[in-house]
Amino acid sequence: MSANRRAKKKNKTKYVFRKREKLYNLLKRIKLWPSRSGLLHGIKTLEKKGNYIKLELHCDKVLKVKDSKNSRAARWLRNKRMVKPCPECQVPDWKLDKYSKTAFK
Ligand SMILES: [Zn+2]
Repeated sequence: MSANRRAKKKNKTKYVFRKREKLYNLLKRIKLWPSRSGLLHGIKTLEKKGNYIKLELHCDKVLKVKDSKNSRAARWLRNKRMVKPCPECQVPDWKLDKYSKTAFK
């Protein structure tokens, strides 16, 4: 799939989210996690448990976060505030590319 996506360089697909989207829905689609240190991690698994989301990252960190549309992570995802991708997660280019084409309206 990733090779295929890379081949289609003229693919102008935009991914649009509502600004008030809940964090879980964002994470489920984007599969990236912005840590406080400014790294963008890849999400291996995510599981919704009531008002919380349990996340497992590709660099083996496990997190439990509140599912809110106004959380820091949701804001950072919308504002694209992250500095760089996590080197341990090895986030594939197509995923970063997809995220960079994602708009929040
Ligand atoms: Zn990571």
